[in-house]
Amino acid sequence: MKASKMLISTLKEAPSEAKIPSHILLLRAGLIKNEVAGVYNYLPLGLKVLDKVEKIVREEMDESGALEIRCSALQPKELWVESGRWQKYGPELIRLKDRHEREFCLGPTHEEIFTSMVRDLVKSSKSLPLNIYQIQTKYRDELRPRFGLMRSREFIMKDAYSFDKDENGLEKSYQQMYDTYTKIFKRCHLNFRAVLADTGNIGGNGSHQFMALSDVGESLIAYCECGYAADVEKATSKLDGYVGGDIKDIEKVYTPNHMTIIDLEQEEGFLPKDMSKTMVYHDFLNEKYIIAMVRADREVNVIKLVNESNSNENYLRLATDEEIMNLGLVKGFIGPVNLKRDDIDIYVDYELENHNGFLVGANELNYHLKNVKYGRDFNGILCDLRTVNENDLCPCCGKPLKIERGIEVGQIFKLQTKYSDPMNCIYVDEFGKNKPMVMGCYGIGITRTLQSIVEQYHDDAGIKWPLNVAPYHAVIVPVNYKDDSQRKLAETLYEALKANGVEAIFDDRDERPGFKFKDWELIGIPFMIICGKRSEEGIVEFKTRQTLEKEELTISDALNRILDALEEEKKYNDSI
Ligand code: ATP
Ligand code: MG
Repeated sequence: MKASKMLISTLKEAPSEAKIPSHILLLRAGLIKNEVAGVYNYLPLGLKVLDKVEKIVREEMDESGALEIRCSALQPKELWVESGRWQKYGPELIRLKDRHEREFCLGPTHEEIFTSMVRDLVKSSKSLPLNIYQIQTKYRDELRPRFGLMRSREFIMKDAYSFDKDENGLEKSYQQMYDTYTKIFKRCHLNFRAVLADTGNIGGNGSHQFMALSDVGESLIAYCECGYAADVEKATSKLDGYVGGDIKDIEKVYTPNHMTIIDLEQEEGFLPKDMSKTMVYHDFLNEKYIIAMVRADREVNVIKLVNESNSNENYLRLATDEEIMNLGLVKGFIGPVNLKRDDIDIYVDYELENHNGFLVGANELNYHLKNVKYGRDFNGILCDLRTVNENDLCPCCGKPLKIERGIEVGQIFKLQTKYSDPMNCIYVDEFGKNKPMVMGCYGIGITRTLQSIVEQYHDDAGIKWPLNVAPYHAVIVPVNYKDDSQRKLAETLYEALKANGVEAIFDDRDERPGFKFKDWELIGIPFMIICGKRSEEGIVEFKTRQTLEKEELTISDALNRILDALEEEKKYNDSI
């Protein structure tokens, strides 16, 4: 490809909304262009990379035996009503009406469509197991679209759905997708970790996320050297056994104006471990209020609370001051003792269960209750409600947990019959009985994966694409395009590279060499061949983007270097 015809649109500075390196670099390198918040267009170089990431995903999905289809983004409301998600999905779902007032949504995911398709098309159990996938555009009206392709409102996802006769079948399909994802992310050269995950809006009873490790990741991962790893939304820890002091009678204490944990610690001398953090939530789905209690050195894990209370993330909010007052509670002095209201459920973290006596609000202005003991002074629903912290004890081996950040590039779920039951996606078993198909679903954020690669492969000069996802393999830059011997050598080399299957760019732009070098380093082309002073001798400068190292080579050596690197990459891919 001739550089003069490539619509190269590199920028010196990134627009100010870009905050993280990968977003800045994708914009500066001219791979993507932003129109409105959370919506991106892929420019020629960006599309090349996108195609390559898609190709890796497609090859591995095909290899696993999954069938590719392509569905519309436009989905009818009726199917979402059948699954029960039209109401539950919340404001992320982009809803629209056609000219006849018929309601639709733009698919944020496709469980309903695939379930409906399989119930209509699959008549015999002989067709099972079945795994169908697509690579397609998804829409989610994210509350805060940010970080470019990482959290956008329109993005490309690979989504797959498996249909099995029974749980055993699902286990196999799930494991196969787990292995396929592992291969895909290895082939993308991502440094990643598969972790246990919550099932969120999608539902079901088992899930893993694939996390590209990165300091800018929005997810927190708790992991242990024994192999345990879980999203902090899901992670659990062993109880640390702390029970406080001796068991004593409950005592009312005057704590004027001291309503926060910090006040109570600093002004009244209570240890956070000997106090409860008592939060009040309004559950709009079940029209209830919830009191959630964890030890005060902890945070409530809202995802766990949502799961315990059978609520939904979109329908659980902290109660307002007014609601707290109307419940007869006193803000800053809320407590569970003698609280008798049918519309309030109390959820208590296990850490408080065996504590000998801790401090809670007295539901009276300026008063707390000391030495409160669960089971003696109040009751509630005991559950795991706390957010795991660094150095908590690993639930598997008891060693201290570590915390790291990750970008969720993929997630797999055991859906079981969550969709096939309500949507009547059934098969007839060998005894002539109708049975719901047992489903799994499997997503990869293709565009998020692309940006995660940039996040892991860049330096101050720009992107450092791994060879198999780079927009092109090599670029040839004549230092002075007007110099005959330089231009001719560059042309010869360009033809030789193309003839050998190397994806090459010929920089025929009449620009200063420094300007051209900077462009290619920013864009991240793995190899640069510079035809300069020694062109007449057939000697070029060979620069590797990963290391920025330069050396002088003959043109045939330069060509062989690239062919060797491609061969090496192929071997790596074949070995996975
Ligand atoms: P998140 O927790 O980051 O919002 P999710 O768990 O809701 O993601 P899934 O429903 O599991 O996402 O979707 C499958 C994959 O699609 C995710 O693993 C992620 O890689 C990608 N993805 C989800 N939302 C977005 C988004 N707004 N922008 C880009 N990619 C996304
Ligand atoms: Mg997810």
